[in-house]
Amino acid sequence: MNKFRIFDRRGLLLLLGLLLTTGFFATTLFGYFVSKQAIRSAIIGQDLPLTASNIYSEIQKDLVRPVLISSTMANDTFLRDWVLKGERNIADMARYLREMKERYGAFSSFFVSEKSGIYYTGEGVLKRVSPKEPRDVWYYRVRDMKQDYEINVDPDLANADALTIFINYRVFDFSGNYIGATGIGLTVDAVRRLIAEYQQQFQRTIYFVDAKGRVVVFGNQTNRAPDLRSTPGLGPLVDRILQEKSGSYQYVSDGDNHILNVNYLPELKWYLFVEQNEEVALAGIRRTLYANLAISLAVTLVVLFLTHLVLSRYQHRIEEMASTDKLTGLLNRHAFTILIEKLLAEYRRVPQPISMLLADIDHFKEINDRYGHLAGDRVLESVAALLLAGLRESDIAVRWGGEEFLLVLRGCDQNEAERIAETLRQRIAATPIEVDGQRIAVTLSVGVSEYDGAESSDQTVDRADTALYAAKHGGRNRVEVAARPNPA
Ligand code: GH3
Ligand code: MG
Ligand code: MG
Repeated sequence: MNKFRIFDRRGLLLLLGLLLTTGFFATTLFGYFVSKQAIRSAIIGQDLPLTASNIYSEIQKDLVRPVLISSTMANDTFLRDWVLKGERNIADMARYLREMKERYGAFSSFFVSEKSGIYYTGEGVLKRVSPKEPRDVWYYRVRDMKQDYEINVDPDLANADALTIFINYRVFDFSGNYIGATGIGLTVDAVRRLIAEYQQQFQRTIYFVDAKGRVVVFGNQTNRAPDLRSTPGLGPLVDRILQEKSGSYQYVSDGDNHILNVNYLPELKWYLFVEQNEEVALAGIRRTLYANLAISLAVTLVVLFLTHLVLSRYQHRIEEMASTDKLTGLLNRHAFTILIEKLLAEYRRVPQPISMLLADIDHFKEINDRYGHLAGDRVLESVAALLLAGLRESDIAVRWGGEEFLLVLRGCDQNEAERIAETLRQRIAATPIEVDGQRIAVTLSVGVSEYDGAESSDQTVDRADTALYAAKHGGRNRVEVAARPNPA
């Protein structure tokens, strides 16, 4: 019904909004997923392996050398001879142990004799081991084990119970009989510091696992359960990991994806586990994602709002520039002023009578009040159509005001105009207008004037208006003709 909506504004805004959001969101999400993939590959391919290899080399420095030293001690002819000769000069043994400890910068050194059960250190006799003493359990374990040595983390009795890694090496005499255990102990501080540093700096979880899948107690750097198989998410993978010895794995725990790098350290028979919670690593780019989405949304809204403003403005302008009335489709006053000047110019060239009818719907306010404004609009449309139908092609129909219509009849003198006005009045009075099933009776009052050849168009309209006023006063639903203008 609205002839001026040359484009559907809502549809256009919707389309624009859709294009902007799709574009913005697609690029933002694409960027996010690309970064996410890059970060994941970096964690798997570089970050975790690098951490593992740094820790591994530190461990080698701190642990592998002591294993060699302990092996040297276990094969030392002085030590074995001293035991076989009856453990006689204790000062000699103490000096030997002290020498090994100091030369290699160990934390402690020891020998436990199978025959006498005596535990020797660099200071001499520490104690006698006993199968009943819980702290000596290690010795009996070492005595019965199949491998040459073990690495064991224990508090050191000889050093105020500092947490110490012991290399416990089995010692045999020259014919292969077991005669005791020797080795050195060292503090784990250096390795622990390194691990703590990595954990803090990169929020990684680093720990060691033994061949049975138990987490090696190694300081307090991990809050893993002692049995790795009971760890949520990771548990079911443990057997496979221990079998494969090293590789990259992923598991989900607490809804977070974890990336795990495993390395087997053959010297220690331990597995080094380095883990990264991927969600933590992605927190940064996720914040960026949310910020980008928010910015995209804001920009979209601003663009839509500005577009809306511009479109409204243009629509308003176009309506202003238009020559017809939106509701009735009749010419508007703006068009009338242009047309009437042409008409009067034509008249000056070839005089031909011009008459005007100013028609006003009677008691239109009551129609609005009774049937509503929308019904009022329908009435206006119908009246306009009826008026238009009663005119000739060359006549001009203008919506003059709210419920006022100005009809300009060409080649029509006052008498003929009055006749036409009367016909229109009667036709409208006889045609109740149907709106939503209701029949609304409408009448018109009409004022008629003829252009006198000298006056301005405004004056002709004014005289029609005066005649209309008279028609209203005369009881409405009637036609009045204007008096001739007073000669100037
Ligand atoms: P009278 O017989 O003296 O002309 O009385 P009237 O009620 O027709 O005249 P009045 O000037 O008091 O009221 C005109 C009414 O027309 C008031 C106005 O709200 C209403 N009107 C003006 N333009 C429109 C329109 O576009 N649509 C509708 N529905 N009503 C309109
Ligand atoms: Mg009226
Ligand atoms: Mg009026």
